[in-house]
Amino acid sequence: MKKILEVNDLHITFSTYGGEIKAVRGVDFELHEGETLAIVGESGCGKSVTANSIMRLIPSPAGKIANGEIIFKGNDLAKESDKNMRKIRGVDISMIFQDPMTALNPTLTIGNQLTEGLRQHKNVSRKEAEQKALEMLDLVGIPNPEERLKQYPHQFSGGMRQRIVIAIALICEPDLLIADEPTTALDVTIQAQILELFETIQEETNVAIILITHDLGVVAKAADRIAVMYAGKIIESGTKYEVFYEPQHPYTQGLLNSIPRLDQKGEKLEPIDGTPPDLFSPPVGCPFTARCPHAMFVCEKVYPLRHEPSETHYADCWLYDERVHTPNLMNKKEE
Ligand code: SF4
Ligand code: MG
Repeated sequence: MKKILEVNDLHITFSTYGGEIKAVRGVDFELHEGETLAIVGESGCGKSVTANSIMRLIPSPAGKIANGEIIFKGNDLAKESDKNMRKIRGVDISMIFQDPMTALNPTLTIGNQLTEGLRQHKNVSRKEAEQKALEMLDLVGIPNPEERLKQYPHQFSGGMRQRIVIAIALICEPDLLIADEPTTALDVTIQAQILELFETIQEETNVAIILITHDLGVVAKAADRIAVMYAGKIIESGTKYEVFYEPQHPYTQGLLNSIPRLDQKGEKLEPIDGTPPDLFSPPVGCPFTARCPHAMFVCEKVYPLRHEPSETHYADCWLYDERVHTPNLMNKKEE
């Protein structure tokens, strides 16, 4: 599979009156054609900021990419001009958000909104654009596309609107689709349909998808690989099966414990106690120290070395380093 995106040592900061927020602190990941990477974590962990930075949609001048590379098909988007970014957005990389209503213009027909991007970027005739719009509506499962093209957003249900948003995002045949909480506003049945739609679309178009979510049910259904973010860092990453069945980081373990299990009715939800650290002055050591049931002396002093149980799986945690379990060496608590 061809690699289409490689993010290296990405740092994103926001300057505020209170000081500089280090929202993303050295994130690395890559993505291949036809693959879905889910970036998961609690709100404020940096997952949306990371996604927005790929589209260069970090509000400036307060927010900036302070360091790192975003290599998309060979070009570093972190250094791309605004002019070139406008050509890339919606054409090579598309994004969809949580609320389908805000993404649609209530005063324009669906047909107009579908064909707009194509006409603007792809130099096609009105007729060709309409033909393509019909195909897209069909692909996303909207019945009677010919009539529907002439209708306005308010004439569609929430689930249908999200299908239309997806059709608009895909009409220029992007290589990468970024979906930020795409099903959060929808009820469970529609949510399942939209996730199935992503799968169908991926089979048909081979588009790579970055799925930003805090919902592990969505991840279980749609992801190939998972990156777990905490306090601006990816603290664990692996295939879906590695992360779900062999979570290594105590934070990931806590997240998985907090989902209600269908086979354990009545089992209490176990939220992780405490709050993430302040990103004005992030901790030098493991950012999870204050909430971690296994925290050791070394954890708050030094950022953990990477533990790699397989070629595709890693977690940044001291638990797996033999030295911390040797009395008097790195772990004072065991003295
Ligand atoms: Fe817990 Fe220490 Fe591992 Fe951090 S490094 S997750 S504090 S055991
Ligand atoms: Mg978000």
